[in-house]
Order: sequence, then C-alpha cells, then structure tokens
Amino acid sequence: MSFRTLKLIDPLLRALDDLGYDDPTPVQRQAIPAVLAGRDLMAAAQTGTGKTAGFALPLLQRLTLAGAVAPLGVRCLVLAPTRELAEQVYGSFRRYGAHVPLRFGVAYGGVPIEPQAAKLKKGLDVLVATPGRLLDLQRQGLLTFAQLETLVLDEADRMLDLGFAADLDAVFAALPPERQTLLFSATFPDAIRALANRLLRDPISVQA
Ligand code: AMP
Repeated sequence: MSFRTLKLIDPLLRALDDLGYDDPTPVQRQAIPAVLAGRDLMAAAQTGTGKTAGFALPLLQRLTLAGAVAPLGVRCLVLAPTRELAEQVYGSFRRYGAHVPLRFGVAYGGVPIEPQAAKLKKGLDVLVATPGRLLDLQRQGLLTFAQLETLVLDEADRMLDLGFAADLDAVFAALPPERQTLLFSATFPDAIRALANRLLRDPISVQA
C-alpha cells in the first residue's frame, strides 16, 4: 500500500516525497482513511510509530479541501503534554503541510505570551498547544473556539500523568460539541478509557 492508494492529495504526496517517505506505517494505514472519513479515533500508538503523520496528513487534507473559512479562530487544535512534543508536532505539520496554503501555530508556557497571541489574532488552521498556556490564552480573550472542527489529544496518558486533568476539562468545556476528536495514547489505564468514553463518538480503534 502506498500513500497514493490512501487517496492523499498531490501537495501532501509531494511533501512526503520531499521527506523520502516511501510507504505508510501500520498506524498511518489505519488512521488516515478513518480521519479522512471524519471519524473519531482511539489510537494506541507510541512515539516512533509514525502516529504524527497518521493524524497530521488526513487533517491537512480535510482542512485544505474544506477551503478557507473566516480568518479568525482555530480550526484544528492539537493538545500535547510538553513544549518539546508541541514543537515536534508543530514542525511535523509544517513539513507535511509545506505545499498547502494553511496557517500553523504553536503555544506553550515558559516563554512570553505576546508573540503567540499576535499570531493567533489572524486566525490559524492548526494550533498545537500545551493545556496550561492554551487556557491562559483563552481566558485572556486571545483565542476563540467557535470555529473548531477537530480536537487531537496527543500522548493523552502523559497529559494525565503530568496533572493536566483539570486543565483538559476546562478546555473541553470551551469547545463546540460538534467536532471530530482523535485520542492518541501509549497506554490505556482506566482514566484514559473514561476520557475516551466521554469525548469520542463511535470511534474507530487503531493499534500500532
Ligand atoms: P512519530 O511516531 O510520529 O514520532 O514518527 C517517528 C519518526 O518516523 C519521525 O521521525 C517521522 O519523520 C518518521 N516517519 C513517520 N512516518 C514515516 C513513513 N511513512 N516513512 C518513513 N518515516 C516516517
């Protein structure tokens, strides 16, 4: 199976070609068609499985094909446990999305909020963020979720381990209920299963 068989559009295939990716990994083969079809996802996948491209590629495709929407707000929100992972996922969106006309941003704590706020002002197609800084931005009125189409939780188990449960609840409460939700986790303890039950609607299960 190739990326072309998965029906990815040419600008994405070109980016994969630039990167020298030949074939999709198992998690990509399962996740890409499901996400393209608009389904919710519960994915058991560790780092190194290609999970990032598994959600980034189909989301880039959906955002591109849906075309431009009103400039303000955020269309796709990816939550990550640490600034390192947030930077890594943001870099992946930029690489895979090098040939599509979308706007990407990243926000995490420990650095000044103003440059992040300035970028958000113009609207973003994809924002990758850690939960705490995201809430700061939202509470300061610098961010609106009215246009949100997709939520991704990356390394959900680590977010709970790091004590983000209450922050996550506050974020979920601010999001439109009609949306696509993708949950990626390396492990599935009871707390993650409960989170999945609450957030996901008729999800497709993916196993790396
Ligand atoms: P991830 O699990 O998303 O952190 O990805 C692990 C590494 O695999 C990253 O360095 C990616 O650039 C790389 N990668 C992801 N998908 C593929 C693929 N289909 N072919 C080759 N490398 C890949």
